[in-house]
Amino acid sequence: VFPYDRLLIATGARPILPDIQDLSLPGVHRLHTMNDGLHLRRSLDDHRAQSAVIVGSGYIGLEMADALTHRGISVTVMGRSTVVLPTVDAVFGRVVESELRTHGVRVESAAEVQAIVQDRARLRVESALTKVSADIVLVGAGVIPNAEIGAAAGVPGGIKGALRVNRRMETNLPHVYAAGDCVETWHRVLRAYTYLPLGTTAHKQGRIAGENALGASREFEGSMGTQVVKVFNLAIARTGLRDTEAQEAGFSPFTVETEQLDHKAYYPGARRLSIRITGDRKTGQLLGAQILGPWQAEVAKRIDVFAAALYHGMTVEGLNDFDLSYTPPLGSPWDAVQMAAQTWCQAERVTYQKSVGN
Ligand SMILES: Cc1cc2nc3c(=O)[nH]c(=O)nc-3n(C[C@H](O)[C@H](O)[C@H](O)COP(=O)(O)OP(=O)(O)OC[C@H]3O[C@@H](n4cnc5c(N)ncnc54)[C@H](O)[C@@H]3O)c2cc1C
Repeated sequence: VFPYDRLLIATGARPILPDIQDLSLPGVHRLHTMNDGLHLRRSLDDHRAQSAVIVGSGYIGLEMADALTHRGISVTVMGRSTVVLPTVDAVFGRVVESELRTHGVRVESAAEVQAIVQDRARLRVESALTKVSADIVLVGAGVIPNAEIGAAAGVPGGIKGALRVNRRMETNLPHVYAAGDCVETWHRVLRAYTYLPLGTTAHKQGRIAGENALGASREFEGSMGTQVVKVFNLAIARTGLRDTEAQEAGFSPFTVETEQLDHKAYYPGARRLSIRITGDRKTGQLLGAQILGPWQAEVAKRIDVFAAALYHGMTVEGLNDFDLSYTPPLGSPWDAVQMAAQTWCQAERVTYQKSVGN
């Protein structure tokens, strides 16, 4: 027993283990800790695996599909969602599916895995419509918060059972703080709590809890779900709300997708970026953005420009006032982000004029 003056609960999350029989079979791996990764690598080396099924088509499953394919392993991704990477709009998910297939990955979407069975030296993964045999199976189907310790001490659970905290990262118990994947997260755009288990958020929350535990008075400014993932030659990123999420939250969202070059066309190697901006029709406020493009095309830098604008509650139009860098090999005088913002404003004006009959 350790007495404390201040206590921080930072127990993280654990993988959701789908209701599938025989997850304990040798050759079935989960993907959460560094040790899981090292164990998987040893197992691949020792057993010279030729084929793998990945259960789960979120960002971790897709990163693993990329990594295993580079090791020469034949990969099948089986996901419950109708298209891979359900954290971005389906139109982008379909492009990612096509990228996976181009690199030899078999993609089975809308495939709820029901069983994993030993099939002589191999494993067979079964959904209602498909059966796929492989040497190894990786399970990456999301996480749930490790909230038990906090709950047992009397901290109430909220979304997905995550511990309730205020923006100072305090629980309801005196001198007890909580942060990271085990807590509910304040969403800056929604102005509400949600569950967003990300390393970026955990770092900020941990810092604020630590400072407050030492006597400071800081508030967590909120997460916007900013994230980026590389899948083969593509990078896909998002920040803020998608159209459907904005609608559910009571905004009047308007979403426009455009294609922009990452740098001036006359300089060799210009690449196309697809940019989807969601803004509020009534106020012009930026609500969210998604970008898909070749991974060398500074997708992460560009989503971070949107994230900075979103953090400061700017309008879509306001993005044009940013003094962004430019040189022909790397950008344009109006960056791709600003060109996309201009297209959003024009499209919004045209739709507005049509709606009022001008
Ligand atoms: C494969 C993978 C890739 C990821 N990639 C990204 C990424 O690219 N970008 C991003 O932003 N996020 C990413 N994440 C998410 C990110 O890793 C987590 O959000 C982050 O680690 C959460 O930090 P945390 O400190 O809350 O929890 P953790 O890092 O999970 O740490 C919790 C710790 O508490 C310990 N613990 C739990 N219960 C107890 C107990 N009862 N007693 C003692 N110790 C306990 C655990 O063993 C663990 O060491 C990824 C996650 C995974 C699994």
